[in-house]
Amino acid sequence: INTRLNVKASQYELKELAETFNHMMDRIESDYIKQQQFVSDASHELRTPIAVLKGYADMLDRWGKDDKEVLQESLDAIKNEANNMQDLVEKLLFIARNDKKTLKLNKEEFNINEVIEEVYRETKMIDTSHDITSSVCQGVIIYADKNRIKQAIRIFVENARKFTPEQGKIDISCTRDDEYAIITVKDNGMGIKSKDLKKVFDRFYRAEESRVKESGGHGLGLSIAKIIVLGHRGKIKVKSNYTEGSRFSILLPYIKSVD
Ligand code: ADP
Repeated sequence: INTRLNVKASQYELKELAETFNHMMDRIESDYIKQQQFVSDASHELRTPIAVLKGYADMLDRWGKDDKEVLQESLDAIKNEANNMQDLVEKLLFIARNDKKTLKLNKEEFNINEVIEEVYRETKMIDTSHDITSSVCQGVIIYADKNRIKQAIRIFVENARKFTPEQGKIDISCTRDDEYAIITVKDNGMGIKSKDLKKVFDRFYRAEESRVKESGGHGLGLSIAKIIVLGHRGKIKVKSNYTEGSRFSILLPYIKSVD
């Protein structure tokens, strides 16, 4: 900051200045392109639910007054689609407002096993069509935002439920190494092709199979999980064999272990 280029700058200084300037412009340009892409992808995602809402409103207008069945069906569909849209808009806002550097964290010390148990219990309650198991590890205390960590694990679990057929297995567990607490959600569902593995954490990315299946997702969950984990200086990993299942892990640095 204290350095100023001499007005009578040398050729070398001018070259350095020009390079710095160009580098800065490259970054501004690439940020701008990314933002444009985000706005365009977000608008595209919002188009479908809006078209569905309009379709049902149209149906109500034409037949809803006389036909009680049409009335109920349309109202249910409108409520459902409005909920989906609300969910989508919340995800878009999270991504637009946060990145790993700006994410605000409400940190506290807690045992990693607490979040495993809480997510396991709530999943068991809402999902009776999968075989859900969990195992805790020798405890470690982490200093992290508990709600955000739970949100990231829930994203893994939600995906495991979506992409694993009924009666399939979902396991939520934890281990530790010298540095990290490792939370893993493993399923024996449809798996991910190796060509898609690198991209699943990208915004709006959905593997072809999930687009065909119309799982209702928008390809935003894993990019939110990634922001949360990187915001904690952690790591996020995936391993998967197509048709056999997937394993998503979060690695978080811990402050101490409790034996
Ligand atoms: P979505 O809302 O589509 O689930 P995500 O960002 O959470 O968005 O996931 C991106 C894509 O990664 C999914 O559409 C799917 O193709 C793939 N994926 C994520 N989790 C799993 C899983 N457990 N099994 C198979 N595919 C998965």
